[in-house]
Amino acid sequence: MEVAHPVEANGSAASSTDGIENLVIVGSGPAGYTAAIYAARANLNPIVITGFQLGGIAGGQLMTTTHVENFPGFPDGILGPDLMDRLQAQAVRWGTRLIEADAEAIDLSQRPFKVSVEGRTLRTHALILATGASANRLHLVGEDRLWSRGISACAICDGATPQFRNEELAVIGGGDSACEEAVYLTKYGSHVHLIVRSGALRASKAMADRVLANPSITVHWHCQAVEALGSDWLDGLKLEATDGSEQGSVLAVRGLFYAIGHTPNTQLVQGQLPLDGRGYLQTEPGRPETAVAGVFAAGDVADAEWRQGVTAAGSGCQAALAAERWLTHNQLAVTVSRAPVDPEPAPSQPETATSDAETFAADARWQKGSYALRKLYHDSDRPLLVIYTSPTCGPCHVLKPQLKRVLDELDGRALGIEIDIEAEQEIAQQAGVTGTPTLQLFKDKVLVQQWRGVRQRREIKAAIETCLNPAVPA
Ligand SMILES: Cc1cc2nc3c(=O)[nH]c(=O)nc-3n(C[C@H](O)[C@H](O)[C@H](O)COP(=O)(O)OP(=O)(O)OC[C@H]3O[C@@H](n4cnc5c(N)ncnc54)[C@H](O)[C@@H]3O)c2cc1C
Repeated sequence: MEVAHPVEANGSAASSTDGIENLVIVGSGPAGYTAAIYAARANLNPIVITGFQLGGIAGGQLMTTTHVENFPGFPDGILGPDLMDRLQAQAVRWGTRLIEADAEAIDLSQRPFKVSVEGRTLRTHALILATGASANRLHLVGEDRLWSRGISACAICDGATPQFRNEELAVIGGGDSACEEAVYLTKYGSHVHLIVRSGALRASKAMADRVLANPSITVHWHCQAVEALGSDWLDGLKLEATDGSEQGSVLAVRGLFYAIGHTPNTQLVQGQLPLDGRGYLQTEPGRPETAVAGVFAAGDVADAEWRQGVTAAGSGCQAALAAERWLTHNQLAVTVSRAPVDPEPAPSQPETATSDAETFAADARWQKGSYALRKLYHDSDRPLLVIYTSPTCGPCHVLKPQLKRVLDELDGRALGIEIDIEAEQEIAQQAGVTGTPTLQLFKDKVLVQQWRGVRQRREIKAAIETCLNPAVPA
């Protein structure tokens, strides 16, 4: 499911007449969106600062996974990005306002609290921190050079890249994520090596059994990677034994995927709120209240133990209810009245069908597939924005609606094309695509600019505007 894009908050619709918000929620994983659903239904008119890059993409960690099979209510499982699209749609349907950016600073030293975002300062009576956790990296020798050139922290996002097809691949880690990624990569690689520092997998028994029974996966016990080898692309990993039992070796792999845990995103409140020994936010035991009244924590940022979608959602619910009670108790809440009482159903947009000779339209703002790409590349004089995606790529879910908005804002003066690299490997290879999302901007058959990963809408729009009017610098 792809969700029609909600209107971005502009900061002018504060909850009270003095411009102070009732509640700002930082983070848009299961914790943040669940808190928003509860707060919006309580007429608190909340703002969610979704996050953009600093602590993971909007939608959080589940945007980087495929099938979520343990979130209640989906008997056949659901793709992580689809689940997050649904949570977002539900939050927006009840009136949540979104700011699609990173919170840059938080000041808890005075009331109302201050949150800096997109160059402005929001003032809020209550705050929910739901900033989750970020993937860890090892920073091996050679890693910076080969990052995105064979090394990735998201097998689910990048596994379908043509360069990994039928190649030997490695995953580092021994937990659930590592096992899930190793199994997932057997779809693409010729063989997968799981590199485990100890002599056991920390994953759940079911997941570990799946790995150990899979003939396409070799587990390298008591092993650690020390160097990434290769000039333009990863072609090997230097390994060392962790138990001193054998000499180092080189594993000839073309892909390396990290699955070595996460670090809680607490940078914004360091020195302002107490953290535990591992850097997680400390709250009252079993409750969302932090050491500062009116500031609540939800999800993985305050949970070193359970770290699941459903526990994050549950704690988001608790945080919103606690915030509502605190605001009411302190007579701070300025609620909005909603008319009609029941909002319209959440809008959704159907997936774009792949264009062919019959369905291709020279003026369509957004089309899919190599047929449309070839036609427009050769025949159109408008700038072409090409996004290379894969079906399970969460960041692509975040980026696509942003691009469609840019093209709408440009009123058809530039056109967009989506290429699924899994369905159209040859095109992806020709274009030199090494992961998704990759964005390429063409004008008059010339590649003007290329981006990897999620980008700010304004950056892409400025590049297109420069193409349209080269005399005006972006
Ligand atoms: C590969 C993988 C597979 C998983 N599979 C499952 C599964 O099958 N089932 C399951 O239940 N759980 C699964 N999990 C765990 C689950 O994803 C997490 O427990 C859950 O997402 C935590 O939710 P959260 O809302 O606390 O944080 P996150 O999902 O981490 O979201 C944090 C949010 O905060 C935002 N943020 C960070 N910094 C800032 C900032 N400065 N400003 C604004 N926003 C910010 C981020 O952009 C993000 O939107 C999986 C995790 C991974 C990595």
